[in-house]
Amino acid sequence: MNVHSSPVPDAFPYCGRFAPSPTGHLHFGSLIAALASCLEARAQGGRWLVRMEDVDAPRNTPGAAESILKTLEAYGFVWDGAVLWQSTRLEAYRAALERLRAQGLVFGCACSRKEIAAATHIRALDGSLRYPGTCRAGWPAGRTPRAWRFRVTDQPVSFMDAVQGAQEQNLAQETGDFVLLRADGLFAYQLAVVTDDADQGITHVVRGADLLDSTPRQIALQRALAVATPSYAHLPVVVDATGEKLSKQTLAPPLEIARAAENLVAALCFLGQCPPLGLRRARVTEVWDWAQKHWDFAAIPRCRQLLPDGVKKPCFLLHPS
Ligand code: GLU
Repeated sequence: MNVHSSPVPDAFPYCGRFAPSPTGHLHFGSLIAALASCLEARAQGGRWLVRMEDVDAPRNTPGAAESILKTLEAYGFVWDGAVLWQSTRLEAYRAALERLRAQGLVFGCACSRKEIAAATHIRALDGSLRYPGTCRAGWPAGRTPRAWRFRVTDQPVSFMDAVQGAQEQNLAQETGDFVLLRADGLFAYQLAVVTDDADQGITHVVRGADLLDSTPRQIALQRALAVATPSYAHLPVVVDATGEKLSKQTLAPPLEIARAAENLVAALCFLGQCPPLGLRRARVTEVWDWAQKHWDFAAIPRCRQLLPDGVKKPCFLLHPS
């Protein structure tokens, strides 16, 4: 049985993906998303794609994309087809923006960050300020638009997340009209990811719960663009003892190639699987063999955050080598 409650008809073959941003090396947090999305795609007899999310050029780190792909390979990941690079997709994003604009769903916004901050104190769940709607009815005379925003509706967007359960967000109340084309001329993540997921035929998105609150914005865009909404599964994210998400920004250490088996086993434990401890000293292919044979999507902990050690220890105690 397909564990995801998918709005995509069953006749659609499963297609999953891993979509790292090349802002730094692959770390333990991103390994979790790569591993779960890959194992679930393979368990469903589906395809698994890798997409390099390098659209936000100023945040890219030189060499990071190559290092991520090299690490994935060394960790035994095998993806289908060529890697899709967002930097090659600007025409597709422009076309999507035009389709939305033709429907009157995009408006130019002249507000600077400072002006938005002066107009509102309300923050969205992701911490950003909710857009107060200043330019909704047209930007002020004498100003020029800096960014282009999506006009949200004052209605709940709901979906069933395969890990986190029922979700609902009213975008008008939570985020306000959000940016599609940024003031620096770059396409925003929300537009790029929706365009790519649709064009690549992604049926199932398995990723970190740090993106759970972005999903309603992506679903709103999918509906406006009349493309299918994939099934979503948001995995708990790794946090440190202070509750801080393990990310490149918090300087999570890069994954060492020499410790691939050990880190894969730790990632499996984090995902609620219980690999035998001895696998840490096995070959990478043996870890994958075990993982593919025993993968149990339903065992993934149903929470948004988790300390790595909280899972590792009881898991290892259950299977002493
Ligand atoms: N590129 C995003 C990141 O590295 C992930 C996007 C996604 O999975 O939708 O956080």
